[in-house]
Amino acid sequence: MSLSADVVVAGGGIVGCAVALEAVRAGLSAIVAEPGFVGGGATGAAMGHLVVLDDDPHELALCRWSLALWREFLDAPGVEHMATGTLWVAADPDEAALAQAKHRRLRDVGIDAEWLDDRALADAEPLLRPGLVGALRVPDDSVVYPPGAALHLWAEAERLGARMVRAGVRALDDGGAVLDDGTHAAAGAVVLACGLATTALVPELPVVPRKGHLVVTDRYPGLVRHQLVELGYTASAHAREGDSVAMNVQPRPTGQLVIGSSRQFTGDGGVDLAIVDAMLARAFAYLPGLRRLHALRVWFGFRPASRDGRPFIGPLPGRPGVWLATGHEGLGITLSLGTARLVVEQILDQPLTLDPAPFAPARLLCA
Ligand SMILES: Cc1cc2nc3c(=O)[nH]c(=O)nc-3n(C[C@H](O)[C@H](O)[C@H](O)COP(=O)(O)OP(=O)(O)OC[C@H]3O[C@@H](n4cnc5c(N)ncnc54)[C@H](O)[C@@H]3O)c2cc1C
Repeated sequence: MSLSADVVVAGGGIVGCAVALEAVRAGLSAIVAEPGFVGGGATGAAMGHLVVLDDDPHELALCRWSLALWREFLDAPGVEHMATGTLWVAADPDEAALAQAKHRRLRDVGIDAEWLDDRALADAEPLLRPGLVGALRVPDDSVVYPPGAALHLWAEAERLGARMVRAGVRALDDGGAVLDDGTHAAAGAVVLACGLATTALVPELPVVPRKGHLVVTDRYPGLVRHQLVELGYTASAHAREGDSVAMNVQPRPTGQLVIGSSRQFTGDGGVDLAIVDAMLARAFAYLPGLRRLHALRVWFGFRPASRDGRPFIGPLPGRPGVWLATGHEGLGITLSLGTARLVVEQILDQPLTLDPAPFAPARLLCA
C-alpha cells in the first residue's frame, strides 16, 4: 500500500499535532503517523504550564512567540485554559535578587511582570508559609490541559484536511517514510515529532529521557490561585546531570492541585517513591497546608531532553526532506506552536519569523 502527502508528520503529541495544523493552514497536505493515540506520550503526562522562561535569550524569544500563538486556542473546547499567571517565589534575599534580574530580562522584551513584597504575596496566596521575601508575578503565563490541547489542535488539522494513520514510522527513505505495516508514505517533507522515540529513527540524535513525577490532589477550589514556582526551579530544569526537585504547584479548573516537580536522567519505568517524597517535602516547605490534602494519584512521564537544553527544530543534516521538531524537555507544551510555525516556514522556504540557527539540528549533529 502507499500514501502520499506534502508532509508526513511522525508523532501525534502536541508538537506533531501543531505541525500538522500549521502545515494544512499553509496549504500543504499532511498525514500524521501515530502508533498510539493523540497526546498519549509526554504530552499526556505534562502539567501544561504555559510559561515564559528567560535564562536563554533564544528560548525566551521562542517562548514569547509561542505564547502569542497560543492565544488563539485558549478558549477552545477541551483546552481547559486557566489564566493563573506564575508566581516565582523568593525565599531569601539572594532569590529576591534573582527575581529582580528576571524582572529586568522580561521587561527588556516587553513581558509584563510585577514584584510582590511579602505582604502582597501573603494576600495573593495565603497558603504559602510566612517568612518568604516576595515573588515575581508574571500575569500572562497560564495553564492548559495538555492532552485536551493536543486533541483540539488535531481536530482543527483534521477539519482542514489532515489525515491520521494508526502506525508508526519505521524507517526513512529518499521519498518519504516507511510505516510499521510496510506502507510507503511518500512526502516532500517528513517531520519527526515523535519525542523520545525520534532516536530510534535518528540514533545519533542527542536526546535522552528525563523522568518527571507529578501528584494530583482531590478538589479544593480556590485554595491556590497562581502557578507557584520556586526561583530555584530554573537551576533544577537546566541541570545537565543528577536528580533534582523543585516546588511547582498548579491549580486546575477542577479545583485540584497538581504538585511537582522532579527531574531524573533515566528512562526507567515505575513510580520512584523516594523522589516523590523529596518532591512533596519541597512543596510542603513552601505550603505546609498541603499536608492536610488528599492526594489521589501520582504519575510520571519522560521529557525528551536535548544535550544543550534547546529543542531541535529544522533540517536533519545529510537527509534532504527530513525535518526535526523534538527535544523540548519540560517546555514542549509551551513551545509547540512556535516550533510548528518555525518548521513549516523553513519547509516552505518562507521569510523566517525567528532566527532558526540556535535550534538547528546541525549545531549538535554533523551530516
Ligand atoms: C512530568 C512532566 C511535566 C511537564 N510539564 C510541562 C509544562 O508544564 N509545560 C510545558 O510546556 N511542558 C511540560 N512538559 C514537557 C512536555 O510534556 C513535552 O516537552 C512535550 O509533551 C513533548 O511533546 P512531543 O509531541 O514532542 O512528544 P510526545 O508527547 O511524547 O509525542 C510523541 C508521539 O510520537 C509517537 N511515536 C512514537 N514512536 C513513533 C514512531 N516511530 N512514528 C510515529 N510516531 C511515534 C508517540 O506515540 C507519541 O504520541 C512536561 C513533561 C513531563 C514529563
